[in-house]
Amino acid sequence: MLMKICVLAGDGIGTEIMEQAQKVLSVVADKYNHELELSYGAIGGHAIDTEGVPLPQKTVDSCRGVDAILLGAVGGPKWDNIEKSIRPERGLLGIRKEFDLFANLRPAILYPELKNASLLRPDIVEKGIDLLVVRELTSGIYFGEPKGEEVRNGKRVAFNTMIYSEDEVRRVAKIAFDTARKRRSKVCSVDKANVLDVSQLWREVVLEVAKDYPDVELTHLYVDNAAMQLVRDPSQFDVIVTSNLFGDILSDEAAVITGSLGMLPSASMGLENPALYEPIHGSAPDIAGKDLANPLATILSVAMMLRHTFALNDEAQAIEDAVKRVLAKGFRTGDIMSPGMEQVGCTEMGGLVVRELS
Ligand code: NAD
Repeated sequence: MLMKICVLAGDGIGTEIMEQAQKVLSVVADKYNHELELSYGAIGGHAIDTEGVPLPQKTVDSCRGVDAILLGAVGGPKWDNIEKSIRPERGLLGIRKEFDLFANLRPAILYPELKNASLLRPDIVEKGIDLLVVRELTSGIYFGEPKGEEVRNGKRVAFNTMIYSEDEVRRVAKIAFDTARKRRSKVCSVDKANVLDVSQLWREVVLEVAKDYPDVELTHLYVDNAAMQLVRDPSQFDVIVTSNLFGDILSDEAAVITGSLGMLPSASMGLENPALYEPIHGSAPDIAGKDLANPLATILSVAMMLRHTFALNDEAQAIEDAVKRVLAKGFRTGDIMSPGMEQVGCTEMGGLVVRELS
């Protein structure tokens, strides 16, 4: 298979982790006889420095026509005080908008080898954590109009609008149900339908979509209960689908209970290619350039890309298994280090995964 991928390394540890991810990608491509067509682009702070904007047109052009985009991370203190409209994160928002990437998929997996890193009690962790949050990414309260701040009766007031159309709910719900079919066939839709009109519509539309997926079990939770259930018994969840605001909070909660920021990949997708794959962590400026970063989240983003964009399940599984074997052998980067394990750097960790693959 020909795989066309645009690589955007970005800032901070972005270049280091991407180097390791690319090593893994080319080994898998060789092993399974796939052809790679890679292109590269600047994004974030690096693009501000070289092109004056966080998402140059050249980068958008390089992404158009590819199957998938692989991104490192953007941002850093160097660009913290520049004008809001050209901050590094604008590069990411721009890509999402340009390709209408409305569904954000964030798995939260606790590797048995890393269970000590979890913030939850051992008896809860024992049951395992392997869930996926599907968050609507391009609508809801972050984008709804009207929004703003004004003075009413001599006092400042500020307001936002939480709004969803049925089409917006339907398309993200479909992605959740389709993804659940590739997992354990369970979807939990999270809303606040007891209070919010917008959540009532959300629930109605999810129920309509569910009719086309009789093989997938659907449940509903109010967001406050979902937040509690995630720490009380995360093993009950397979796929959680929710709106932009609730998903923002719940996906971070799900990530933090695994205790390993450097281990978690993500995908953002629309109805057409390219989809965007990236680790959930940021550019980690405190450790950038020191060969200390954990490249596994980016390597696992490659696995996610192979599974979701290219439907190459064996190849994806091979990468995930290789990562598990490296962990089982006791190798750790600093962020997931525990007593008795062997600490390695970013380059060596990438090399170990490659060795397991080949
Ligand atoms: P961060 O995720 O970059 O770092 C948080 C902490 O986790 C740091 O101590 C860092 O060293 C550590 N860490 C993160 N990833 C790691 C890895 N792979 N291996 C080892 N340790 C790792 O979050 P932050 O410090 O809040 O933000 C730093 C910069 O990244 C900011 O400019 C922020 O805007 C940006 N950011 C970008 C993205 C993105 O590109 N998607 C996401 C979050 C933050």
